[in-house]
Amino acid sequence: LALAPMPTQPVRVVVVGAGPSGLLACINFLNRNANSNDVTYHVTLVERGEDYGALDASGLEKKRSWMIGLSTHGLTAIRRVPSLYEEYVSKVGVPVHATALCVGSRKFEAKSDEIGENYVVDRNFVVAAIARFLKDKFETSKYLTQRYNTKVNFVDSDERRIFVRDQNGRDEYIPYDLLIGCDGVRSQVRAALVANHRDFESSVGDIFNRYKSVHIELPEHLDGNMIYITPQCLPNFNGIALPETGGKVNLAMGCPTSAKVPAALESDDVTAVADYLRDNFKAFALPCEAVAKQWVAQPWNTTGMVHCNFYHRWPLTGGKHTCARRLGKTQRAVVMCGVCGFRWRCGSKCSWVVW
Ligand SMILES: Cc1cc2nc3c(=O)[nH]c(=O)nc-3n(C[C@H](O)[C@H](O)[C@H](O)COP(=O)(O)OP(=O)(O)OC[C@H]3O[C@@H](n4cnc5c(N)ncnc54)[C@H](O)[C@@H]3O)c2cc1C
Repeated sequence: LALAPMPTQPVRVVVVGAGPSGLLACINFLNRNANSNDVTYHVTLVERGEDYGALDASGLEKKRSWMIGLSTHGLTAIRRVPSLYEEYVSKVGVPVHATALCVGSRKFEAKSDEIGENYVVDRNFVVAAIARFLKDKFETSKYLTQRYNTKVNFVDSDERRIFVRDQNGRDEYIPYDLLIGCDGVRSQVRAALVANHRDFESSVGDIFNRYKSVHIELPEHLDGNMIYITPQCLPNFNGIALPETGGKVNLAMGCPTSAKVPAALESDDVTAVADYLRDNFKAFALPCEAVAKQWVAQPWNTTGMVHCNFYHRWPLTGGKHTCARRLGKTQRAVVMCGVCGFRWRCGSKCSWVVW
């Protein structure tokens, strides 16, 4: 992070969002305190949800969310923090050694040394692991304030402060010198930024837009350290099977909102769904009854991806230009970090922002 003259000492850093990127950003700032004599950061983490790092294993099991695959840039950001991967993150997910593309019943396989490494983990599990690291290393630090169950409702970039409400309905302003937006796909910080900087305009597009996701025992003939990508695994449906801890697999199948969903998959009849899966799913042997039971018991989920004009253009993804941006006057800085929905690049983006 290249620092212009500091408005105050210590620098008040506010990180919005305690997802993987927000937690990593906090750790990186706090580590800088230990490694630098020049600048001290006082980090305030603001998260609207609960602290998964405070849950024990059974509490966390009830908070399962969706599986994410971390590839090289995400893993690099994590490994840059000594012991974070080895002692925390590596305990909660599954390393992947190969990926298979399943077309009908045929498989095309590529090993990780050809296509890069991958580590699959439940989003809330990796959040809990990084949050535990933050607690273990910095909970008693006078430079860290954690504000869970506190929602950012507004960014007042003129006055350099955010307006928050806690779980008891108490409103408050929190001032900042540097604001880091790690608040996910519908970011308040991004909203404040795009109001003034057209480069950061973004749109939300779809990956597969309506989907359901089941957790099943590893089917016979599947490898517990492989990813299986299953395009058109059912008519109009794409799918992905990701390995989980405990010898399980998370299978998600979905389609664009514009696609026609077969009547059987809309029904709440377990037998109808199981029969449909048996007739149509060819990628691997599926425990159709078990899948059908979970299928009918859940509503459709939706998912989308943020596409940002600035971060997704060539100079930032591989060109030679410096990845730096001055946003307004130094004294009025609002810095957006990792604006894309796929936020794992944040670890490196933090150090690219000049303000
Ligand atoms: C089905 C599915 C599959 C995915 N697969 C992958 C994958 O394979 N690989 C991958 O890299 N990514 C994947 N993703 C995306 C992945 O979830 C994100 O990349 C990752 O969670 C981004 O981390 P983040 O810290 O930037 O944001 P998030 O994890 O979204 O965290 C944002 C945090 O900000 C908090 N927050 C939001 N608004 C406010 C507010 N106003 N005030 C306070 N706090 C706020 C939220 O509560 C949340 O904790 C997938 C997502 C889905 C839904």
